[in-house]
Amino acid sequence: MNNRTTSRGAWQSAALLALIGGVGVLALHKPTHAGQAPAPVAPPPGATVLFSGTEEEMKKNFVKRGTDQDGHWKIEDSAMVVGGGDITTRQKFADYQLHVEFKTPFMPDKHGQARGNSGIGLQGKYEVQVLDSFGLKTPGTGDCGSIYNQSAPLVVASRAPKEWQTYDIVFRRPRAGADGKLSKARVTVIHNGLAVQNNYEIKGATGIGSGADTDQPDVIIFQDHGNKVEYRNIWIVPLPEQGSSKYDGE
Ligand code: MG
Repeated sequence: MNNRTTSRGAWQSAALLALIGGVGVLALHKPTHAGQAPAPVAPPPGATVLFSGTEEEMKKNFVKRGTDQDGHWKIEDSAMVVGGGDITTRQKFADYQLHVEFKTPFMPDKHGQARGNSGIGLQGKYEVQVLDSFGLKTPGTGDCGSIYNQSAPLVVASRAPKEWQTYDIVFRRPRAGADGKLSKARVTVIHNGLAVQNNYEIKGATGIGSGADTDQPDVIIFQDHGNKVEYRNIWIVPLPEQGSSKYDGE
């Protein structure tokens, strides 16, 4: 065997291995429309960090829903784990940009709403659904990224269970217009870097909370729906009702 033959043989072996490897990778990782796998996203300057992984933050920034008792979800590997009832933020918020990272458990024997269900309740009553919706071609109004039971995600962005996912939620609470009429709440949701809700006008309370629309600030709910969903790296940037009226800033 001369050198030329050897190197050709080696190239063929390498190509074959690459092909087998490639097929293996394809079989293990079904393609999705999801964006890049997220590393924890650092809070920008001016953000209020609600949870970065400590027990102290759970107690200081969250309460057991409807009480003034400290937040009670367990912290495991710097993530808070759903269990023992809903929690809410201690603080109430008006308009904001909220960043949340979540991970649904692997529950292959469960389906639909029983698989990795949790949720984030804006202004105490509007739920951005958290669910294992991985692999769906056409998610519905109850799936991950939906405004629960109202608005299905516009595109498929869900990652697999046990993978961290990101939500960046921009919320605009209802407010009185010039005619004195209260506008609807609006929400934009970016899920794993993809817009799944585009300035959606929320029709009303979704069931995670109740009551009429109001312009009053309220808490953010993290839902216990009986599944061990995990959350990490939660920060919020409260937003003013509107920007400056000046043309040239200073
Ligand atoms: Mg839910």
